[in-house]
Amino acid sequence: MSQHFLLSAKARTLSLAKVMRLSDDEAFATFRDIRWADTGGEPYCPKCGCDDLYTIATRKLWKCKGCASQFSVTSGTIFASRKLPIRDILAAIAIFVNGAKGYAALQLSRDLDVQYKTAFVLSHKIREAVAAEQDRAVIDTEAAVDGAYFGGYVKPANRKVDRIDRRLAMHRTGKRQVVIVARELNGETRTHIAKSEADGVAFVMSTVAPGVTVHADEASHWDALEARYLTKRINHSEAYSLDGACTNMAESFFSRLRRAEIGTHHHIAGKYLSAYAAEMAWREDHRRTSNGEQYLAMTAAALAHPVSRQWKGYWQRCASTI
Ligand SMILES: [Zn+2]
Repeated sequence: MSQHFLLSAKARTLSLAKVMRLSDDEAFATFRDIRWADTGGEPYCPKCGCDDLYTIATRKLWKCKGCASQFSVTSGTIFASRKLPIRDILAAIAIFVNGAKGYAALQLSRDLDVQYKTAFVLSHKIREAVAAEQDRAVIDTEAAVDGAYFGGYVKPANRKVDRIDRRLAMHRTGKRQVVIVARELNGETRTHIAKSEADGVAFVMSTVAPGVTVHADEASHWDALEARYLTKRINHSEAYSLDGACTNMAESFFSRLRRAEIGTHHHIAGKYLSAYAAEMAWREDHRRTSNGEQYLAMTAAALAHPVSRQWKGYWQRCASTI
């Protein structure tokens, strides 16, 4: 079998400039090589896995001899029933991956010269694929856990006399959510959305392998972790790192998510917070790999991800409910 495409020299040197110069046939071949990287770019049926196929070259389709289903290079992936040329999808990923603090759909729509809604759905599809990959991360070495609040901003009134105490529960919007993170000191990151940080205990128990060392702050709900893990606790009012206890890995993740919220998206709707948190976890975990490798990893994640239930036909559904 030929070399795995993602490990080849050709793959490592892919860049946005090169993607934009690809011919239609070259873009198609690149897509095929990434999608079927495990077989050296040789297609097989997405339904039954059979590799005995008829090729319908004129329409760039295949027909499975086993189950008779027809498929294209995007069938069964998150880009199924695409409207954009393949080159534009590759370019979208190359641009999206460059945004260390995330990438705004409005900006992507200008870059690609497509409608905002096209860019919006495309970014969410990429994000969903990346989040699914992140959800498979295994936390089984020394890790830090922590929580931080996002959303539910209450704007202070103009006049001081009209201002309310925004810390009181009665004055909150009810939209505030906590992002909980479990992050290996040298490895992978998992995220979870909850109403309160205490809800994160169950998430940590179900995500972090028993017996590993877990760093947490002194909030009392984390006491429950002591039965299952070797814990190192740190009082944040004194330090972020002291006597070997340290939640800095969690803090740097929150800092990236905060910068994405404030600097790129300005507002993250509550129902999407989970997807954005996972996207930022993915970016943190890939921060030391080259840009070309990040691009390939993101493309491979997208092509390995099945059709999106949330985003397939999203705007058509919206139109029918308006
Ligand atoms: Zn088949």
